[in-house]
Amino acid sequence: MTNINSMVKFAISTSQFQSQVSDLLPCNKSLKSQLIWGLLKAYKLLDHFDYIITDPSSSKEEMLQFHDKKYVEILLDESLNQLPNEVAEEKFEQWKHLSELGKGDDPDAFLSPNDLLKYYNKYTNQCDIVRKRTVIDTDFEDEEESHSSNEDQRSILKEFNLEGDCPMFPFFPLYLKVITGATLKLLDIPGSDLRPLDIDSLSDRFIGMNWDGGRHHAMKRKASGFCYINDIVILLQKLRKKGFKKITYLDFDLHHGDGVERAMLYSKNVQTISLHLYEVGFFPCTGSLKESRGTNTINLPLMHGFNDKNLNELTAQVVLPCIQKFEPEFIVIQCGSDGLIGDSFHEWQLSIRGLTHNIIKIIKQFPQCHVILLGGGGYNPTLSSRFYSYLTWNVLNEFGSEHLLKNPFEDVHFQGKDTTYDILIPDHPYNEFYGDEEHYKFWIYEQDGSSLYKPLKNDNKPSLVTKFREHYQVD
Ligand SMILES: [Zn+2]
Repeated sequence: MTNINSMVKFAISTSQFQSQVSDLLPCNKSLKSQLIWGLLKAYKLLDHFDYIITDPSSSKEEMLQFHDKKYVEILLDESLNQLPNEVAEEKFEQWKHLSELGKGDDPDAFLSPNDLLKYYNKYTNQCDIVRKRTVIDTDFEDEEESHSSNEDQRSILKEFNLEGDCPMFPFFPLYLKVITGATLKLLDIPGSDLRPLDIDSLSDRFIGMNWDGGRHHAMKRKASGFCYINDIVILLQKLRKKGFKKITYLDFDLHHGDGVERAMLYSKNVQTISLHLYEVGFFPCTGSLKESRGTNTINLPLMHGFNDKNLNELTAQVVLPCIQKFEPEFIVIQCGSDGLIGDSFHEWQLSIRGLTHNIIKIIKQFPQCHVILLGGGGYNPTLSSRFYSYLTWNVLNEFGSEHLLKNPFEDVHFQGKDTTYDILIPDHPYNEFYGDEEHYKFWIYEQDGSSLYKPLKNDNKPSLVTKFREHYQVD
């Protein structure tokens, strides 16, 4: 708690508990969030926050601020808060392995998903009773009824797209309540009444972070692209209720921020800007220039191989002028890491430094705006953990009242010129996941000559920026 008197108040939603809950999401591969949590702790970054939200929760009512009632009721069906019999134990082997590693370092680590649920029910004072199954039931005794109910169930799953890459998984309601709450609770910091900043007194600026949030694809009554509840849309609604009249949402994820864009399409209060890969057949297949509207709905469709140089130009010449035109009071940034070089998509080749530099540049450019930074996609867990710890350190270092003395990511002896790439991941409970990657080196995904550095062909044309500037009429 070192920044009590700083110009900026920092808050983050993170904990052993939250990371273990977040890793129930199948595309997290049972480890993404725990690796991020592990590195935040290993670098001692949490010591520099003014507030840490460790036990987040959200209610059905909050989800109904955006989502459809029937959809939310299906998602929050308490009978899903358990391990179904048919789920083989091996599916949880990796998760359990991580929880045992976490337990070594943190006595608060939970050894089973059921322990997570018990803990959640305890701090939210919820009754620890598994309610009668309402929709999702595969265990009927009557065969005929079973047949029709299974039919119903299938049609419900289809209707809400709870299949394919959006399956309902064990402890689904717990996951949704915790992760949505981790974003929303950033606005409920005790003693801080968040309101638009007065330009003459910028002393109460707020920067919040939730690296487990940013579920930008979820629609009003449909799951999409590993996203079920759109924490971003609910956050934006909450900000509007708090009196913010101009909010910019900026999305750096490899994929189009379609769920947020669609929800805010007719809002005068919210500007959405999304940079994304837009190529034939690439999910979610939306986000073309034609789908943009004035200065409020801005799409920046990009090609394979997008790099730091492209991003620097785009930020300086298109993104910043577009935000300036809108004059926001609050900026929400989705910092998905699937556009980084080394991500399993292998579509873009942004560096950790490059993406971080651009995020910082935007926060710096608008000192009159509060900021919330959220996570998003990212399918190489050890790359995501590197990125979020680097980004967190840089935000704290740049905007905190006191600079953090030592930069753990650069070798100071080289004064930033001949940066050594031998910076190692610090010793911590999840170290083993970095051992195979050229012996714990931090920068291996973007180091020339490294076996994991795989530059891509860049299909983006230099004329790209001019085209966007003309389209959005920025001078
Ligand atoms: Zn993505």
